[in-house]
Amino acid sequence: MEKIYDLIIVGAGAAGLSAAIYGARANLSTAVIDSKNIFGGQMLNTPEIDNYPGLPSMSGFELSEKFYSHASKYNVDFFEEKAEKLRCEKDIKSIICKSGSILKGKTVIIASGGVHRKLGVPGEERLLGKGVGYCASCDGALFREKEVFVAGGGDTAFVYAIYLSRICSRVHLIHRRDKFRAAESYVARLRNMKNADIITNEIIKSINGNEKVESITVMSGSAEKEYPADGIFIAIGVEPDKSLYEEILDTDPAGFIIAKEDCKTSVEGIFAAGDVRSKYFRQISTAVGDGACAAHSAELYLER
Ligand code: NAP
Repeated sequence: MEKIYDLIIVGAGAAGLSAAIYGARANLSTAVIDSKNIFGGQMLNTPEIDNYPGLPSMSGFELSEKFYSHASKYNVDFFEEKAEKLRCEKDIKSIICKSGSILKGKTVIIASGGVHRKLGVPGEERLLGKGVGYCASCDGALFREKEVFVAGGGDTAFVYAIYLSRICSRVHLIHRRDKFRAAESYVARLRNMKNADIITNEIIKSINGNEKVESITVMSGSAEKEYPADGIFIAIGVEPDKSLYEEILDTDPAGFIIAKEDCKTSVEGIFAAGDVRSKYFRQISTAVGDGACAAHSAELYLER
């Protein structure tokens, strides 16, 4: 007979793995789907996490492993599948995967995080993997003793630049204005790095090179400038991949799912947790909190 889970969680980042721990501990038959065979979501992109309580100075990889091994202690089925569509028929929700398989559940938690926002400039797509990257901890080692740029002014850009300054000969963080979203502690740390500098009020217009990145062109006021570069990491935030749910759930204008602290979406039995939820503060700690709340809401829904 076809298995119908109590709870299906889409996404195995901080929110999804937290939801899995809470769901399984509440005795819900629980499945987690993620398109990658390595779990941790955006955490995996972060070279150093310094603000997760109790576990300072962890790499994102180490913290992901801890979350995953904790969730694996419980009776959770993990699937390496790309969830493409969410359907809702009466009380049963179906997740249709790219492979053609379908998972069914009484409740669903969407914890699918976000995808890297693109600059949308010439050269960005063409030179992807040839000097253009979005994950410093994945690709930073390829730029040993090279000169790189990091685009963005949030925590990710600063964490990337601090990490890369230990590997590269020179790192330039380039931001479109002179105010940063990043925590002041990260800004101060980067300012203290001898081989790093911060360029403000410059807007990247193109990434140039034939076989690989050779330079970037920027606008500084009304003047155009070109900087030589071996690589550029783009760290300008995340956007939700809304294709899974946009047909059935209410979202904000940017496509994040509207749900309050109880993580209930506009459809009964479907919950949203972590970065995919329209929210005020996107952190590992807030994603973990969402995962717990969403699993608890799913439990209450099933009890009813
Ligand atoms: P973010 O906080 O949304 O910052 C994105 C940055 O990119 C902003 O400075 C923004 O500029 C800039 N930007 C956006 N679109 C741009 C464009 N088209 N062209 C040029 N610049 C653009 O994103 P994030 O840094 O990835 O962080 C996401 C969340 O994860 C945040 O809540 C962050 O605190 C959290 N995080 C935490 C840590 C940590 O504490 N260890 C590490 C990484 C991420 P404007 O400021 O001008 O809008």
